Amino acid sequence: MSAQRRVAALTLVLAGALVVGCGSYVPPEASPTPRETPPPTAYIGAITTSAAAAGSPGSVTVAVDSTPQAVEAREQARAASPSMPDPPIVTQSAPSPIVPRVVGSRARVVDRVQTTEMRVALTFDAGADRGYAESILDTLLTAHVRASFGMTGQWAEANPDLLRRMAAEGHHFINHTQTHDSFTGFSTGRGPKSAEARVRELDLTEAAVQRIANATTKPYFRPPYGDMDGSVSADVYGSGYDIVAMWTVDSLGWNGLSRGGIEERCLRLASPGAIYIFHVGAAAQDGPALPAVIDGLRRQGYEMGPLDWLLGP
Ligand SMILES: [Zn+2]
Repeated sequence: MSAQRRVAALTLVLAGALVVGCGSYVPPEASPTPRETPPPTAYIGAITTSAAAAGSPGSVTVAVDSTPQAVEAREQARAASPSMPDPPIVTQSAPSPIVPRVVGSRARVVDRVQTTEMRVALTFDAGADRGYAESILDTLLTAHVRASFGMTGQWAEANPDLLRRMAAEGHHFINHTQTHDSFTGFSTGRGPKSAEARVRELDLTEAAVQRIANATTKPYFRPPYGDMDGSVSADVYGSGYDIVAMWTVDSLGWNGLSRGGIEERCLRLASPGAIYIFHVGAAAQDGPALPAVIDGLRRQGYEMGPLDWLLGP
């Protein structure tokens, strides 16, 4: 891969804010036409790269639907499964400058990779029960596919056998915090965590993964509920996490989508450089849907792997 292509592959999709007025997460590729008058939103900050800080276009703005219906929907989903429902973050692709991988003093938010290569990343968040984790690992092993696992420290400590198996089978880890509490407080209503508390969440998780599986989560961070702002980006960067791992395609398994629905959605929304998010917990049918998703993506010509592989060296 030439240097130019490598840089191109690392280019982010940098986005402007787009807010949708319904209670459920609507992914960028399925966003409806924006309303003429946007509903009230909680603006949770602009995340900028150094290029943006230097005055060029390309700041990333993350907006979350804060209508009462949206908040209620999130609360219900969370009550059903505390770690499942990650966030209603809606981004919109926009022309972006070439941005080097490690820049500035804030972590980079990655929600897809710009590439023409037929590659996608599979990521699985683990923060609730063991769920389908074992079956997912069996599926990945049989299909010879490696993946990323967004891991809470609590899940790692509760399932050391699975953590060791993930490491032994070549999977990749993302730090999903110790307790899956929101760093900004947006989704939990508890107010933002202090910088010290955020660092402790990251360090506890990293220590658990190191101790149990002799592996690291650095430099990949996945925020609980997708709650992000500039201070989170700065705090995690300071702890060694320069990639905030968002996603392109949410299977919506956590939201009750059927096995067939997950398969259809994941295959319909496939595109080069896409990052998929699934969950291992029993509340989602992602595990049962996975064999058909992998087969379907292969039939479309896609190669699958973990996020670090998709991002490249
Ligand atoms: Zn999560």
